[in-house]
Amino acid sequence: MKEAFKRKINEECGVVAVFNCHDASEIVFYGLHALQHRGQEGCGIVCSNNGDFKLIKGAGLVHENFNESTLKKLVGDMGIGHVNYPSIRGGNDVSMLQPYLFRHCDGDFAIANNGSMVNYQEIRLFLEHNGSIFQSNSDAEMIAHLIKKEQNSNMLEAIKGALNKLEGSFACVIMTEDKIYACRDKHGFKPLSLGKLNGGYVVVSESCAFELCVADPIRDIEPGEILVISKDGLHSEKYAEDINHHMCAMEYIYFARPDSEIEGVNVHLYRRETGRLLAKESPVEADVVVGVPDSSLSAAMGYAEESGIPNETGLIKNKYVGRTFIQPSQRLREKTVRMKLSTVSAVVRGKRVILVDDSIVRGTTSKRIVTLLKESGAKEVHVRICSPQMMHPCYYGVDTSNKEDLIGAFKTIDEIKEAIGADSLAFLTVDSLYKAGKRLELCTACFSGLYPTKIYE
Ligand code: AMP
Ligand code: SF4
Repeated sequence: MKEAFKRKINEECGVVAVFNCHDASEIVFYGLHALQHRGQEGCGIVCSNNGDFKLIKGAGLVHENFNESTLKKLVGDMGIGHVNYPSIRGGNDVSMLQPYLFRHCDGDFAIANNGSMVNYQEIRLFLEHNGSIFQSNSDAEMIAHLIKKEQNSNMLEAIKGALNKLEGSFACVIMTEDKIYACRDKHGFKPLSLGKLNGGYVVVSESCAFELCVADPIRDIEPGEILVISKDGLHSEKYAEDINHHMCAMEYIYFARPDSEIEGVNVHLYRRETGRLLAKESPVEADVVVGVPDSSLSAAMGYAEESGIPNETGLIKNKYVGRTFIQPSQRLREKTVRMKLSTVSAVVRGKRVILVDDSIVRGTTSKRIVTLLKESGAKEVHVRICSPQMMHPCYYGVDTSNKEDLIGAFKTIDEIKEAIGADSLAFLTVDSLYKAGKRLELCTACFSGLYPTKIYE
């Protein structure tokens, strides 16, 4: 494999698109702000004023890059935006920041994507051998090249042709002079929702963004759908036949905001239900249930409700520290957990604590928290994880693509328990992931090893 192709995968990201709304840049800004949890490495907004495209993007948070005066430079009633997730291999590679804006004789266009293709290497080689030159290793740029390779002046047909060549996950928005195309891969790995704002439309990665945009939710973009938004209204087409609903289970477990509805299931209620199910599957005698803030508080609530053991605030999060996962080295990651969380000693001292967390990836977080709780006088710490043991890498754009990083890939539950210093450890079953959302389909590949797509090396 050519070294240049070794990608810094775009991890969980957030996209926004706004059509036919006065001061579109402001609405995109609010949408991105609401999706900030999906990406803190960088962000960007591109707006079109009757085909005159302007793009501003940069490293850092949305409010660090945009203010009244920058937003005023982005004139127009259409716009798309993106927040980038920090890549574990990423560093500060500004070439990976989206959206991308392309100048073309048939009309400029911009694209923002959340997802990752499993056949990226194959398509990239094909495109390069056919004359394409890339400025990044991003899937979004590749989609743009594929669209133009179709040599079809009908943009919808060109997008269809391009998307049909892709295997993997994508939820992307494409903006031309007069249209927005909102597209979801045929497996439906990533969320994407449509809302209405006055006479216009808003598309967002998660429905939690509608409130800040003052938009009313309409529906999810369907797997395999290309939704065309234009002055003529909405036009929907399918780019593929073999469609399913393999939404990433980690969206419900960890990524999404609790106030989001993903394919009809509220994320907070889903997590609470996983907590209840885990309490049924793996009960333990204890005095207090403590959730790891913020992503596990809903699950801890469910565990406490089902077990009858009181739910307490035993951990406090310092809100001014970023997500621990993003630190490039293990040493820094371990420090960050301490900077981020502290214990409420009065709650845990002398107690048998059930510690509820959403997942174990490397084991760093659990180990640190168990240590903190014990240092604060907890008599026992029983770790209950509201997802199954993560044993397989993710190839769909989540930053767990290295098997070597996954403690669950090489250790038994007992060995993980020892490694994190817990008195007992239990994971949720894969079955319960479906039950919690009353869903028949989900992607659970990192837990079950059952990948919904072909995997290319
Ligand atoms: P670790 O410390 O490596 O075991 O990471 C587990 C913690 O990171 C969990 O408590 C989650 O809240 C969070 N987490 C799980 N998966 C991811 C992911 N793909 N990206 C970022 N954070 C994650
Ligand atoms: Fe989500 Fe895991 Fe599937 Fe990746 S493999 S899409 S993280 S459920």
